[in-house]
Amino acid sequence: MEIDYSGVDGFTVDCLPGCGLCCLCQPEVLPLERAYFRKNHPKAMVRSRTSPGGFALALKKGRGSCVFLDGRKCGIYENRPTFCRQFPFHFYSGDRISVELDHSCRGVWQGSGADAGIEARALARDSMDRLRSALSQSAPVYGEFREICEDAGIWEDPSLARAQVSDNLGLFTEPSGLASVMAVSMGDARADLSAPPAPAGVDILGEAADAALGSLASNDPFESPVYCGKDNSWNLFTVRGDEVEWSVLDDDGDLHRRRGIPAGEVRIPPLDAAAAGILSGYVATLNSRESFLGSVYYAVDEFGYDEHLANAYLGSMAVSVADLLWRAGLLERALGLSGADLMREAIMFYDMDRLDSPTIGGFA
Ligand code: SF4
Ligand code: SF4
Repeated sequence: MEIDYSGVDGFTVDCLPGCGLCCLCQPEVLPLERAYFRKNHPKAMVRSRTSPGGFALALKKGRGSCVFLDGRKCGIYENRPTFCRQFPFHFYSGDRISVELDHSCRGVWQGSGADAGIEARALARDSMDRLRSALSQSAPVYGEFREICEDAGIWEDPSLARAQVSDNLGLFTEPSGLASVMAVSMGDARADLSAPPAPAGVDILGEAADAALGSLASNDPFESPVYCGKDNSWNLFTVRGDEVEWSVLDDDGDLHRRRGIPAGEVRIPPLDAAAAGILSGYVATLNSRESFLGSVYYAVDEFGYDEHLANAYLGSMAVSVADLLWRAGLLERALGLSGADLMREAIMFYDMDRLDSPTIGGFA
């Protein structure tokens, strides 16, 4: 089975002491791993909230970090589940298997540590049966999706939409360019960026706020996205009326309110050349991810196959970047960051949610 490693080759990964961000994601316990937990830690294994019929490790007070995290160190390191061993790698199963790197992990940004390509290949070797099984389920779904698109007259090879993004990266790294892409993708004709029109009628700050506030909205703060700060604080931002409430989660699973930030005061921050360069690299990463394509396919299915794939793809990319830029504005207000530093932190804040988006394939 061929596996696409292009999303990890050339990167290094290093796990930073004191971070613990990935221990806030309830790790699934695979069938082969259940006997160990049943025998040694029966109370720590609970029904998974996300995988019907599955099991996962319990969280402190049912909402904080994994119960085994102690002083930001894993208490069962040698016996931790596969999910934990794999992080920050994700194996995506679509019409093929590809490996994606979670850019919310601060260890991916250090420029030092283990070779990500070597690590990912070793992990894949240990998981071949599981990956084959996942592919046998997802590949037929992709085939069916394509047939429905062809019948609806909206199909084109996804490499064409990807080429439109890679040939026009500059449009995705500044607000007026994003507004143009949104305007083009909302039209009835197949979206073509070779001559984007003036962005008449697109309020890019409003679109960005809608996208970000939608992705931050949750009735339960513990379901909210987490941003792990440079000081290793676990920051949660939830929407409360016209404000975004900023809280910090502690190691015992308790929340401490910092303050409310009026949503109307958040702006899209100005991007200097260094920040735009980092954003451009991230757009290229999204553009190469199979899970991003899978999320576009999911949206096309949700909306009844009534827009051309190119429009859905370019529109999704523009909305994703707008969401990221609004979150950058939120971090600017909360932490006073700017420039390249702000852009890196905003990507760390955003990427875990991006990878969590629903897709027609799935992470194995
Ligand atoms: S998110 Fe990355 S740096 Fe942080 S604990 Fe997990 S692997 Fe280590
Ligand atoms: S088992 Fe260990 S590595 Fe996995 S989430 Fe729990 S504390 Fe973190």
